[in-house]
Amino acid sequence: MARLRPVGLVHYHELGLKRGNRPLFLRHLARNLRRATSDLAPVKLRQVSGRLLLDLEDHPDPAAVRDRVRRVCGVASVALAYRVVSTVDAMKAVIAKLIEERTFASFRITARRAFKTYPMTSVELNRELGAFVLERVASRVDLRHPELEIHVEVMPAETFVYVDPVGGPGGLPVGASGTVATLLSGGIDSPVAAWRMMKRGCRVVFVHFHSVPYLPPTSQAKARALVGLLTQWQYDSKLVLVPFGEIQREVVLTVPPPARVVVYRRLMVRIAETLARKHGAAALTTGESLGQVASQTLSNIARIDEAAGMPILRPLIGMDKLEITEEARRLGTFEISVEPDADCCTLFVPKHPATRMSEHEVGAAEARLEIPRLVASGCDGASVEAFEFPAGAPAELGSA
Ligand code: ATP
Ligand code: MG
Repeated sequence: MARLRPVGLVHYHELGLKRGNRPLFLRHLARNLRRATSDLAPVKLRQVSGRLLLDLEDHPDPAAVRDRVRRVCGVASVALAYRVVSTVDAMKAVIAKLIEERTFASFRITARRAFKTYPMTSVELNRELGAFVLERVASRVDLRHPELEIHVEVMPAETFVYVDPVGGPGGLPVGASGTVATLLSGGIDSPVAAWRMMKRGCRVVFVHFHSVPYLPPTSQAKARALVGLLTQWQYDSKLVLVPFGEIQREVVLTVPPPARVVVYRRLMVRIAETLARKHGAAALTTGESLGQVASQTLSNIARIDEAAGMPILRPLIGMDKLEITEEARRLGTFEISVEPDADCCTLFVPKHPATRMSEHEVGAAEARLEIPRLVASGCDGASVEAFEFPAGAPAELGSA
């Protein structure tokens, strides 16, 4: 048998998809798969029975392609699979090759037929191929916890055989659900919230409020590092940097300390909303989680929502800090988030923020502020930076 050359076999969860959404889902997924691998040698894509095939038969580095594909939202799993004609002999030949250089105390065959009129059932295939493996190596069958699982997928025109599939993020391909603007602090939560939205198919525009020159530019550096990392999930990102220090200074002049946090948040939301519209986003996203800090009580969340003219999505609302932290570690954002920095919210922030404010109290606190002017100054002072993956360094785009 000639040298084995794999294809990339991509599984996605189509069960959760409504019929009409499926072609759109696949279009976005195919585009993102191409984009995620665009700096590697070109890959051809093909659709077969609820799977996508990446033709890697002449590719110099199939493993590199697989490692990119496992980070494409919408991908349930990806494997480097070997394509053979659908005869038992051909399946055996490739299995023989696959097990040649491995030792494993136990194994199982997992055969599936996407093509139900194939003359053998999955159970018959499992038995016959399992017996074949047992003849060649000292191992035993273990259906529950096999050391090696050999997958055999029979399609109408061909069969794919593979081991070691790797899990993808699942969810929906980025772009399939539209665009949101995520308020990105330098903290642990908001990068995770951004990623959750990407996983539900959203393209994320990042908005970061900083207090330069009142504070050093550390928070901007963290925001850049976070956006750089998260861009590998959506390929193109924009980071909008908004000067907020001067606005905070004005707030401090007229707003009593306990009301400031909610007033800051409402200003952030108004500015973010204007920027969101400009960049085609239909909703805002924050990393808020219920009850985590004073500004995240139900009544304060209500006051923040009242300042917004578009939905504010809070994907972490029901998560514990521990769960959020675990996800941040998995994503690699945690290390960046815990770098020490003086967030703009540590500037001019009272020791005891109000946990319950009525509409009336917020209205009174804002009465002496010129809200439209403050919002305009934030928007006018904003600058946009662009990020790309793969390759490409952040480029200055000038003013927002
Ligand atoms: P995080 O870890 O995301 O900073 P947190 O638990 O520290 O969240 P807060 O500081 O109260 O909570 O912020 C709540 C949310 O408000 C953040 O998740 C983020 O979406 C937004 N936010 C806070 N500060 C900023 C900022 N400087 N720039 C942009 N968004 C911010
Ligand atoms: Mg924070």
